[in-house]
Amino acid sequence: MARAAASISDAAVVPALVIGTGYGGSVTALRLAQAGVDVHMVEMGMAWDTPGSDGKIFANTTTPDQRSFWLRTKTKQPLSHFLGIPIDKNIPKYTGILDAEEFSGITVYQGRGVGGGSLVNGGMAVTPKRETFADVLPMVNADEMYDTYYPRANAELGVGLIRAAWFDSTPAYQYARVGRKHAQRSNFPYVFVPTVYDWNYMEQEAAGTVPKSALAGEILFGNNHGKKSLQKTYLSKVRATGRVTISPLHRVVDVRPATGGYKVTIEQLNTAGDVVTVKEVTAAKVFFAAGSVGTSKLLVKFKATGALPNLNGEVGKGWGDNGNVMCGRANHMWDATGTLQSSIPTLGIDNWAAGGAFAEVAPLPTGIETYASFYLSITKTPNRGTFTWNAAAGKAELNWQTAWKEVSINAAKSIFDKINSKEGTIYRTDLFGVYKIWGDHLTYHPLGGAILGRATDNYGRLQGYPGLYVMDGSLIPGSTVVNPFVTITALAERNIEKIIATDF
Ligand SMILES: Cc1cc2nc3c(=O)[nH]c(=O)nc-3n(C[C@H](O)[C@H](O)[C@H](O)COP(=O)(O)OP(=O)(O)OC[C@H]3O[C@@H](n4cnc5c(N)ncnc54)[C@H](O)[C@@H]3O)c2cc1C
Repeated sequence: MARAAASISDAAVVPALVIGTGYGGSVTALRLAQAGVDVHMVEMGMAWDTPGSDGKIFANTTTPDQRSFWLRTKTKQPLSHFLGIPIDKNIPKYTGILDAEEFSGITVYQGRGVGGGSLVNGGMAVTPKRETFADVLPMVNADEMYDTYYPRANAELGVGLIRAAWFDSTPAYQYARVGRKHAQRSNFPYVFVPTVYDWNYMEQEAAGTVPKSALAGEILFGNNHGKKSLQKTYLSKVRATGRVTISPLHRVVDVRPATGGYKVTIEQLNTAGDVVTVKEVTAAKVFFAAGSVGTSKLLVKFKATGALPNLNGEVGKGWGDNGNVMCGRANHMWDATGTLQSSIPTLGIDNWAAGGAFAEVAPLPTGIETYASFYLSITKTPNRGTFTWNAAAGKAELNWQTAWKEVSINAAKSIFDKINSKEGTIYRTDLFGVYKIWGDHLTYHPLGGAILGRATDNYGRLQGYPGLYVMDGSLIPGSTVVNPFVTITALAERNIEKIIATDF
């Protein structure tokens, strides 16, 4: 992979600065560069282009090390227990790849590094059904999205489907076939979920002809092979333009109006998370693409501290968890789910219309037979949180309540109570604590905080400040009905096209 050019220098004057290198940021940088604009991308996480002492860039899910978590001394695994026993362990503090960011009532998992969430996510690349789009982005023209921007996003991301005959025969998806059988027997519609994993590569992994990644349980701390993360798609095209600088381990902490646009203050970090240098640059235009949590935190801080006092009262509002809730079911001995489980899920149970839940059949890639079916449900929930700036504590806070997940649990039950009753099975109680059925303490899908058409105009221009834009998941009002990154990508494609046409 081509190395990033030198990082941004102090006192630089740049036409466009993009904060964050996830989906929103990568789309923005590529389209600006293709339009002839020089772009600087600033990313607080690492570059993830250099192997560690084991010869691999990314750590395995089952053997976390310093690379695995963002500035933690102990892992914080989403699935915290197995057979009721806590599985977290001590690790050296390091600017690792997965941030388990804790707020009151919820832990929000996010990717850290060049590629953002694409480095750690499950790769499920789902376009919402058109009839549900009004629930996702009511202010956006659906025809434009489904005719132009969703197809564009899917093509650029390299989205593809598993080969049905292989799904039906490989031991690696026995767990998903069991999940499908149980869904079918309770009359739930199921769908094959497209992903950005290279399915040909996975078949070669199974055949033993290439190094294993999905079939070696890699996912949460990065995939060394097979997954088409943003590094391999948008960001590889970004680099090829020759117009974009990417500065890893650089964190934006302040943006305020200045002659020539905006003065942006950036802290350069070392891998222990210490600030080693502070840089101040001037950017004519600044694109916030720090993710729903990152952008929300910055905007509420800048409004409250007087850096950007004219941001409107909508910043920080409308934040949701995409209704994420997890659970496991204990299967009968004759329904083994397999010792080899591909880490990339590819089957979903769609009970959105009837019960407000879309559940993906997820792997438990432990290497042993667990007789468990495991699910991550995306559910319909009205609850939305708000980010505010706590001046005394000097940090942004979120007013989420764990009890709000009750709606999500009930929606998930619309599927799993029925399946349990049909199969004569029960919920697992050992995966999230001691006798705890529901993983209701987290989300992988933060959305909202700078809602399109409220905190911004209908294309992401921040109200009150010409030249400031929001381009990431914070534009979406708390739910995408399915997994979010295709929608985040498509919306960014739509918005940047308009912004380039009218603002440059
Ligand atoms: C474990 C896990 C599994 C997931 N699985 C799926 C899935 O299968 N399918 C799906 O659709 N979605 C999945 N997601 C969610 C998906 O990854 C996110 O929705 C998506 O990455 C959000 O895109 P974004 O552009 O809004 O921001 P992000 O991708 O989060 O990118 C934001 C970037 O900005 C950087 N940043 C933040 N603050 C600053 C700052 N102040 N200065 C500089 N840089 C900053 C961050 O480090 C990050 O790299 C998953 C997420 C996780 C954590």
